[in-house]
Amino acid sequence: MPVYLAAYFLENYLFMEKSNAAALLAQDAQAVWHPFTPLVGSAQPLLVTHAQGAYLYTSDGRQIIDAIGSWWVNLHGHSHPHIAQAVARQATQLEHVIFAGFTHEPAISLATRLLEVLPTNQKKIFYSDNGSTSIEVSLKMAMQYWYNQEGENTRRRKVVALEGAYHGDTFGAMSVGERSPFNAPFAPFLFDVHFLPVPYTPDVFSAADATDTQACLQAFTELVQTQEVAAFIFEPLLQGTAGMKMFSRDLLNELLAIAKKHDVLCIADEIMTGFGRTGKLFACEYLDVAPDMMCLSKGLTGGALPLGITTCTEKIMEAYRSYDLLKTFFHGHSFTANPLACAAANASLDLLLAPESVANRARIAAKHRAFAERISTKSFVRQVRALGVVLAVEFETQTQTSYVNEARHYLYQYFLDQDILLRPLGNIVYILPPYIISDEDLEKVYQAIEQIKL
Ligand SMILES: *Cc1c(COP(=O)(O)O)cnc(C)c1O
Repeated sequence: MPVYLAAYFLENYLFMEKSNAAALLAQDAQAVWHPFTPLVGSAQPLLVTHAQGAYLYTSDGRQIIDAIGSWWVNLHGHSHPHIAQAVARQATQLEHVIFAGFTHEPAISLATRLLEVLPTNQKKIFYSDNGSTSIEVSLKMAMQYWYNQEGENTRRRKVVALEGAYHGDTFGAMSVGERSPFNAPFAPFLFDVHFLPVPYTPDVFSAADATDTQACLQAFTELVQTQEVAAFIFEPLLQGTAGMKMFSRDLLNELLAIAKKHDVLCIADEIMTGFGRTGKLFACEYLDVAPDMMCLSKGLTGGALPLGITTCTEKIMEAYRSYDLLKTFFHGHSFTANPLACAAANASLDLLLAPESVANRARIAAKHRAFAERISTKSFVRQVRALGVVLAVEFETQTQTSYVNEARHYLYQYFLDQDILLRPLGNIVYILPPYIISDEDLEKVYQAIEQIKL
């Protein structure tokens, strides 16, 4: 084809693509309600046409570095062929089936393989659809654990959580989360939860202020001594939504020991921290005491499909092993253990446990630590925190640190203008990249952070 003709077609093609994108975006504005997004005054969303590795490609021809793993879910890069093939294969074999009275290989092998890598006291896998549902399951499982043994008059009615906690957006999950402007409309409908003041530390290995630690332990001890606490739920060591805030491993060990002593069920929410984010496969591996239940989602499928899991110990199951039908755990979702999602999770686990992925996580962690050192001396930096592949930089601003901090709007756009996707939490910028991100791209993200002018 003559060059001018090729150019003509290319131009036309690009024009068609462009007008197609414009039409789609107009329809989006009309028909789609996006999460966490005001209906007026928000920028037009970017139309993603495809994604590969660490990059998102948009209809306006941009290649954007996905430095937050698409809301903390993506582990191995986008459209990974190993996961794609596993899902495609599964789709032609068994796409879905009712999970009561029926079972299937992808769910069985995923459960078996997960139990091999989870803390050894975890013995059973309960499937659901997402992070919030895995939390709902854990709370209901804990409440019924007491009900099954002590009946409706059980004193174990209290749930304890940590200040700053985020466990999801459904009602139970909201109840155990920090009360914030975001859930204010629902506040009257949330059940009462006791929140412990948690002293944050620059990293999980340093000790917290002794007075604050005592206050936290004291508050917890007083609560559990009432014998009224059913469960204690926490994000182990690293509170994501709170702003990638870390607290001391020693403190959590002590809290868990106190809980254990008073028979309080401990629920570890590893929805964000699981699958290698903190430098171990699960954050609980840093602890001396294993939890009674764990919640998993996000990275579970490598970020390809929604899936949630709640795991529990033999002790929990014991309370449900009964011929009394009413002691059954009556909970389930239509898409429980969806075979496509389980196939994706199995494929993701292959990748996660492979030496390349282990090496990548160590590489990113080392680069984060070096960058943390490099940036910590800057005057605009209040604190830098690094754990595993998570790096958070908290900036000095006039106002207090919070999600609604206006710095966030400026920062989000600042990074996007450089083709980097970061979604600051208030004045806290964090990186949580897919493990395959290149050193060059990491460096690009670091430099963008370094050159911020607030
Ligand atoms: C994201 C998240 C949840 C909620 O998961 P969804 O899948 O968004 O419902 C719960 N807990 C933690 C720690 C999370 O990061």
